[in-house]
Amino acid sequence: MKLVLASNNAKKLAELQQLFAELPITLVTQGSLGVAEAEEPHHSFVENALAKARHAARATGWPAMADDSGLCVDALAGAPGVHSAVYAPQPVVDGDRETQRRAQDAANNALLLTRVQGSADRRCRFVSTLVALRHADDPEPLIAFGRWEARLLDAARGTGGFGYDPLVWIESLGASVAELRPEAKNRISHRALAAAQMRSLMREVWHLGTA
Ligand code: IMP
Repeated sequence: MKLVLASNNAKKLAELQQLFAELPITLVTQGSLGVAEAEEPHHSFVENALAKARHAARATGWPAMADDSGLCVDALAGAPGVHSAVYAPQPVVDGDRETQRRAQDAANNALLLTRVQGSADRRCRFVSTLVALRHADDPEPLIAFGRWEARLLDAARGTGGFGYDPLVWIESLGASVAELRPEAKNRISHRALAAAQMRSLMREVWHLGTA
């Protein structure tokens, strides 16, 4: 089964492709099908993920999956939260989508460090909500959640991953997320936890891979 993925983030796509490899589905980004990004006007991850999935399903006529995710910092009352992707003003840079994403990530991280400066409370978590729909008006969306508890560092560490990974410290592993190998991150991350729930839902409710 082909599913349109309501995201154009190449790193997210790579993680999700690996996480869903055991199911008979192929993820195709909405960008490669000429679909523009949806608005994300809501205050919660689940509302935004649902809006993104409905938008992608409506535009393509395909089943769709969306991931809305971000970093929630306790000392900032949950910010950057649903604004994680564009927490800082968009930097002006030449280059392709990937170059722009990296510049935005760097600006977001710099702003986050400024905002938490001096705060003793370093608790934070990555959150992922996955929503899957059989069609745009599906009354029974599949919804899965993942939370990954962590602590915020004072300075970036590591070069892997994307987004806030260099600032997020996983106590049990003694490493920042950007210092983990992709396979290690994909075993325990917020997205891995949400994807495991989603795979079960797809088997149970959509009867995928159970024929
Ligand atoms: P979305 O595309 O609207 O879901 O925004 C997700 C944003 O949250 C990304 O652009 C990152 O800034 C952040 N984020 C989500 N997942 C991760 C992760 O696994 N590592 C680092 N940052 C993440």
